[in-house]
Amino acid sequence: METTETKKKILVVEDERNIAEVLKYNLVKAGYEAEIASDGGRGLERAVSGEFDLILLDIMLPVMNGFDVCAHVRRVSQVPIIFVTAREEEKDKIFGLDTGADDYVTKPFSFKELLARIRVNIRRSASEVVTEKKAESGEPVTIGELTIDSERYLVTKNGEPLELSKKDYDFLAFLAANLGVAFSREQLLEEVWGYEGYYGDIRNVDVTVCRLRNKIEADPSKPEYLMTKRGIGYYLRKP
Ligand code: CA
Repeated sequence: METTETKKKILVVEDERNIAEVLKYNLVKAGYEAEIASDGGRGLERAVSGEFDLILLDIMLPVMNGFDVCAHVRRVSQVPIIFVTAREEEKDKIFGLDTGADDYVTKPFSFKELLARIRVNIRRSASEVVTEKKAESGEPVTIGELTIDSERYLVTKNGEPLELSKKDYDFLAFLAANLGVAFSREQLLEEVWGYEGYYGDIRNVDVTVCRLRNKIEADPSKPEYLMTKRGIGYYLRKP
């Protein structure tokens, strides 16, 4: 029986040899498998191979720059991409150009911070795969009077559609997919808000819970669906 978890594989696209080697060394030390591609062309070729769980992508690269690599990868793959930028001003371009990047770090960065970003992005992409699979089945989930239709991003109560923001929907859908399981506010921030949440405020979670209770509960002060688990956090249950 296979008991060891397979190591996550990370592609490091970086032309500066020492930076690439240091990254690889630290990634391996942190329990990942790492491979280096030292120009954009090779980076693209390897990034679309489907072998990697995450790509660390430099911007100034020989053959093809990081923005172009990212745009090409996105045509065929949803693998998480974290840009590793040399300059603060490049970060504006990353999202301004709509490259499809998931995150960025600015050099010089702390390896601890980078590892945290890597963990969040790999986990988020894994949970998106699960959600996509559920959505593919096309079956709306019914919990008591609530129905969550992941194909249409729609939640109804007794057949009446509820007006929810995307985050409210994501929050509810995440708890619904893990019915009865309590999550801490930190976990919910990471799972629902992703990297944004990593630097966010855990009070966002409480505010979202409050807003959702007002919409889904008959009496928001005596919730029957969205429950507080004292000392832990929140969970969703079938009343
Ligand atoms: Ca470079």
